[in-house]
Amino acid sequence: MTEPAMMKGIPGTRDEGRKRLVLIVEDDFVNREILKANLEAEYEILCAGAGDVALKMIVEHSETLSLVLLDLNLPGMKGLDLLREIKKDMDLSRIPVIVLTSDTESEVDSLLSGASDFIPKPYPRQEIVLARIRRSIELSENRDLIRWTERDHLTGLYNREYFYRYVDQYDTWHPDEGTDAVVLDVSRFHVINERFGKAYGDEILRRIGAELYAIVHEKGGIACRREADTFQVYCPHMTDYASLAERVTAAACQEAAGRVRIRIGVCTCADKASDTERRFDRAKSAADSIRNSYTESVAIYNDDLRRKEMHAGRLMDDFQNALAQKQFIVYYQPKYRVQSPEPVLGGAEALVRWKHPELGMVSPGDFIPLFERTGLIRELDNYVWREAGAQIRRWKDQFGISIPVSVNVSRIDMLDPELTETLCGVVKENGLEFSDLHLEITESAYTEDSERIIQVVSGLRKLGFRIEMDDFGSGYSSLNMIIKLPFDLLKLDMGFIRYAFSPEGDTGILAIMMQIARYLSVPMIAEGVETEEQMLKLKELGCDIVQGYYFSRPVPAEEFEKFIKTGGNEAC
Ligand code: C2E
Ligand code: CA
Ligand code: CA
Repeated sequence: MTEPAMMKGIPGTRDEGRKRLVLIVEDDFVNREILKANLEAEYEILCAGAGDVALKMIVEHSETLSLVLLDLNLPGMKGLDLLREIKKDMDLSRIPVIVLTSDTESEVDSLLSGASDFIPKPYPRQEIVLARIRRSIELSENRDLIRWTERDHLTGLYNREYFYRYVDQYDTWHPDEGTDAVVLDVSRFHVINERFGKAYGDEILRRIGAELYAIVHEKGGIACRREADTFQVYCPHMTDYASLAERVTAAACQEAAGRVRIRIGVCTCADKASDTERRFDRAKSAADSIRNSYTESVAIYNDDLRRKEMHAGRLMDDFQNALAQKQFIVYYQPKYRVQSPEPVLGGAEALVRWKHPELGMVSPGDFIPLFERTGLIRELDNYVWREAGAQIRRWKDQFGISIPVSVNVSRIDMLDPELTETLCGVVKENGLEFSDLHLEITESAYTEDSERIIQVVSGLRKLGFRIEMDDFGSGYSSLNMIIKLPFDLLKLDMGFIRYAFSPEGDTGILAIMMQIARYLSVPMIAEGVETEEQMLKLKELGCDIVQGYYFSRPVPAEEFEKFIKTGGNEAC
């Protein structure tokens, strides 16, 4: 719902000098004229003699209309059907409708269908008609004022805070109903915003909001916008969430199938005694668990997820202690220059490991995404960078040579206002050159908040840090975007090597990626290289640097020293 539509009718926000607009829907000429004559002094009047004409007028004047007076016996579209059409639509449903009828039977039907009041025929005295009209308008304007605080202004759905209140109310009224807590998320919404602009992104969210409104109108329940691109629905238990996902996806974007992908997480028939927010947080974790899947659109919260959550909670709880006790160990994986006759050691990537006293070695795949979500990554990365900086210094002192080390800089680190200062500190405190420290920034980080990230990375690059674009090819950058991004080396996503050397793949794609690097005049690094065949093929295609199990797994610093002693050295 647009802002003006929401503001409409709020006391103090309307033009007090103007009369409110009322639509009379009545096919009988005499009745219509009587009403018109009764109301004209106080209201601006529109008239329609048939339901379809009336609906068009309501849509056209939806933002300014204060009331509809609706005769139930109309030619063509029946009055009750028109009433239901109005109440089904999120924008129109705020307009109060008073039903005009001589048939007391239909009064109940009208009220159940959303009429705010009725006026019997033949009409009562003018003061009575006016009083009822005034009261309906006043009630609806007061309700609009409440809506304004309860609603998310972009989509017109409830906002999160009020939604939770209504969930509790819903449970009071439906104590025995099996009710599902549902979270809907738009996958990679930032890419839509980035590629098509914020106004288009907003339009997608509005369409999703309108569809969810229609769904809860049909099936029962309530809906809200949780935050940004995440929505919540509380509804009677359903079994087929896949078709719900399809329906909302179709409504979100008719113009290009596949552009919008909706993920749904469900906490089914949750125990009503359990905390409301918790039920939705569980549905959210279910939705998050399929964040990177291209095939699944629905995830149900289950014991497996519960265990994962417990594990994540444990890691979070243990983090500070682990940092203080130096349980995080930095491993180094060698990178080799392969274009010389024999491979030459050119540097290393620093990869963190967690030696947990009870859980054993915890893989970064388990805790890095968790720490990125919760912000702890900043502290951990600062620690890893300091460790790596000190290590470069030790190797310089011990071997008299410089082994450049690449450290990973997470997308979240890029938002840290002290990032540049911290990295400069690592260089200065250890008496290093800026070019000793390479920064690996994953390609998708560039597309997240590109303006800002480009600015930060350009600044770091100007200082002399060398920037490697990590996981190149896995993000969504278009080529014309890539040429604008600041980096010194491209690091091909491991997926390309896996695919190229799989039974159904071929190495043609690698040749194309090498051409891109050549076109951009930057060296290409291939990581995840496991066999001699892969290494030789990459060498033949012109790849400059190779990293992977073929040469070595990531190893502790002392073990890495054997590569320095035997592998020659030439900075990448
Ligand atoms: P990444 O930056 O893409 O790192 C490469 C990953 O591939 C590492 O996994 C490495 O051990 C693994 N790898 C290297 N060679 C091969 C190979 O030949 N075959 C296969 N299958 N894998 C290979 P690891 O160490 O488990 O790290 C996973 C991810 O965690 C990293 O992906 C990186 O995104 C993140 N990460 C690791 N350490 C840090 C860190 O200190 N800070 C941040 N922010 N992220 C880190
Ligand atoms: Ca990396
Ligand atoms: Ca990578």
